[in-house]
Amino acid sequence: MKVHVDMNLCQSHGECVFPAPDVFELGDDDVLVWKEEVDESRREAVQAAADACPMMAIRIEG
Ligand code: SF4
Repeated sequence: MKVHVDMNLCQSHGECVFPAPDVFELGDDDVLVWKEEVDESRREAVQAAADACPMMAIRIEG
């Protein structure tokens, strides 16, 4: 599956990092970085991250 983050919405506070730290992290400059191609086995964690995002910035495709 593919993971998209709308960086026009994202405020890089990192709520998504807790449910899926292997997918989302805050970089050195505190800007969110993430894996765009994620194994199916991590769907539940990525969905939890999307649900946790207060800006609804995370979209899962596929
Ligand atoms: S939870 Fe949403 S707004 Fe916060 S860093 Fe993650 S994608 Fe950005």
